Amino acid sequence: MSILFCKLCLNIASVAFYFSVSIAYPRPQVHVIGGKQKAEVVEMVNFYADLLGLDSHISIVVSYQSDLPKGIAGYTMFKAYSGENPIMQVYIKIDIEQSSNARLLTLAHEMVHVKQFVKGELIRCENDVYRWNGKQYAHIHLIPYLQRQWEQEALRKQFALYKQFRQAKMRQEIKHTHQLAKNTEK
Ligand SMILES: [Zn+2]
Repeated sequence: MSILFCKLCLNIASVAFYFSVSIAYPRPQVHVIGGKQKAEVVEMVNFYADLLGLDSHISIVVSYQSDLPKGIAGYTMFKAYSGENPIMQVYIKIDIEQSSNARLLTLAHEMVHVKQFVKGELIRCENDVYRWNGKQYAHIHLIPYLQRQWEQEALRKQFALYKQFRQAKMRQEIKHTHQLAKNTEK
């Protein structure tokens, strides 16, 4: 199991992680716990998954809660199950106490980490030892947060992902308005 805390460096040794293994789906299976506008969260996760090339065998649970460790905006836990129906189980926790903008960016940020785990770019070798693009990093809690390359990528891409989602939504709304106008003209 891999866990990645974002916005602060922590010892990530012992966090309980329980999942029932579900069967493989052609697209990510998304489930949202807590928070508002669950349908939009599912929409965002699917949109980011498409952009990041995460198309199958992934089950993603997004949980909005207020009991995250102090200073942590969100974190991602990842576990790969092999066997007859291999599946990547991902659990994203997001601090519900942040502003709505921060929550939206945290979701995009964590989805970049999901991509890193699923594609094997970021691998947890053992507690506090990670491998990033083939290079091993020991004692990651000693590497300042902003110097971790996987965080740099997530911070860089979170804005672009969210911006693309908003633009796609805007195009959809314009199309919908045009459609409504056409129907009214009839
Ligand atoms: Zn992060």
